[in-house]
Amino acid sequence: MKAVRVTKYGGPEVMEYKDIDIPSPGEHDALVKIAASGINYIDTYQRSGLYQIPIPATLGLEAAGTVEATGSNVTKFKTGDRVAYTSVPGAYAEYAVVPEKKLISLPEGVSFNEGAAAMLQGCTAHYLCKSTYKVKKGDRCLVHATAGGVGLLLTQMIKNCGGFVIGTVSTEDKAVLAREAGADEVILYSEQDFKTEVQRITGGEGVNVVYDSVGKATFEKSVDCLSRLGHMVLYGNASGQVTEFNPASLGQKGSLFLTRPTLFDYTADRESLEWRTSDVFNWIAAGNLKLRLEHFYSLSAVQTAHRDLEGRKTTGKVILTP
Ligand code: NDP
Repeated sequence: MKAVRVTKYGGPEVMEYKDIDIPSPGEHDALVKIAASGINYIDTYQRSGLYQIPIPATLGLEAAGTVEATGSNVTKFKTGDRVAYTSVPGAYAEYAVVPEKKLISLPEGVSFNEGAAAMLQGCTAHYLCKSTYKVKKGDRCLVHATAGGVGLLLTQMIKNCGGFVIGTVSTEDKAVLAREAGADEVILYSEQDFKTEVQRITGGEGVNVVYDSVGKATFEKSVDCLSRLGHMVLYGNASGQVTEFNPASLGQKGSLFLTRPTLFDYTADRESLEWRTSDVFNWIAAGNLKLRLEHFYSLSAVQTAHRDLEGRKTTGKVILTP
């Protein structure tokens, strides 16, 4: 089968499109024939070595497709079932072995592309606004990189919870998408000082929560945007990792809360995974959550896909098709 392999860390050029053997499922696994793989920003961290994974490796953490074969102890899935999954390595390929406990049945009417688009970013947006900081009616929320994969979903979910969204984006085109997703106010943080703008928009009150996936470039000012007892949710590092921080400043700035959450911990048990995925798919079916699927690449064009994602050229979901 074809797969995208890395044998060393580095830029997009280290990803090789090559032939490898189809993997064999263990007794608790299914072999999935992949129809669509989701690209996520974390894939670029794993490729570059910012997050170190054992290499050689096949990149990619989510996909949707059809069960091709099952191990002897698999009970809930059978050959031919339409499935989706996330947080299992090896999705940039034509086939992947996936533990049964990670598989979700793809509801009727949800396409493979939608399945691959909804899992990782959908569950992330879900845990951020339903668990890490449970958004309540009237909460003021600052969402960075609003037009990105997680950003557009998180914005819609916060609006559905009754929150007020202030979004940040780098271009006017992205601002249009952020508004379409429901953002009440949009700041072009490439041109405007977002801290000043947040203070203006909130009448000096600040926001109850900041969802910051940009990291190094935004972290410090994000903390300054919070109101008393506000929550600083640092969940990504698109601009680089935050490496210096003095916890005493949380006290000085209003008894703030700081967390650095990961999807892995918020979907560690089957109950959490099922809760989050069923909510996401039900909202899609009901028309309350819209996926933005615009950027498709073939598996062989993965280097271009990563360059575009890291070059801030994409919006919404980026999909790879074998
Ligand atoms: P996005 O589609 O959001 O792409 C990243 C966006 O970040 C860009 O489009 C860009 O938007 C913005 N950005 C700001 N500064 C930079 C920079 N210096 N270089 C590149 N991009 C920049 O990606 P995803 O939706 O896949 O992921 C979003 C973030 O969420 C990532 O940081 C990812 O690691 C994190 N994440 C964390 C998870 C967790 O559980 N902790 C799970 C899933 C994702 P703009 O041009 O508008 O600034």
